Amino acid sequence: MIKIIQGDITKLVVDAIVNAANNSLLGGLGVDGAIHQAAGPDLLQECRELHGCETGQAKITRGYRLPAKHVIHTVGPVYSGSSTDSQLLRACYLNSLSLAKQNNLHSIAFPAISTGAYGFPAKRAAEIAFAAVKDWLKQNPSAKMEVTMCAFDNATFQLYQKELAK
Ligand code: ADP
Repeated sequence: MIKIIQGDITKLVVDAIVNAANNSLLGGLGVDGAIHQAAGPDLLQECRELHGCETGQAKITRGYRLPAKHVIHTVGPVYSGSSTDSQLLRACYLNSLSLAKQNNLHSIAFPAISTGAYGFPAKRAAEIAFAAVKDWLKQNPSAKMEVTMCAFDNATFQLYQKELAK
């Protein structure tokens, strides 16, 4: 099941929220900064032990002071206009969902990965995100995964409404 909301992902009560992190996993601006701020310093401590993350891959930590039990850190592509951007963005969604399944989680919330500082065009990113999530859910019905697509701004929320209706 997919649902959409507009708001702050750090407030969501789910098994895992996804962080749009950078390769270092040592924190940054945007949603990454908001998640570290809300989770507290223990999150950074655990992230240091992960030794970074490749673009398109995902790693899991506990959620600490967040209402979410876990954080799945994934690294979106910095938009360059090449065709690998789309594949890497799709991989972020698929690998995050598979990691959630491996950890027996049943609810996950995603921010609009790569559409902030990393410059991915929001409409194309929304299309890729929804296609990836729908494909994964179709292929993994036994996971019983509840997916929340969290838009921060209203423009993204409107794109998500269109994608959900498709
Ligand atoms: P990236 O570096 O992957 O582009 P950003 O954090 O810059 O990551 O932006 C990704 C998306 O996350 C943007 O659409 C931004 O508006 C959104 N965002 C920023 N803060 C939050 C938050 N607290 N909750 C949900 N989404 C957020």
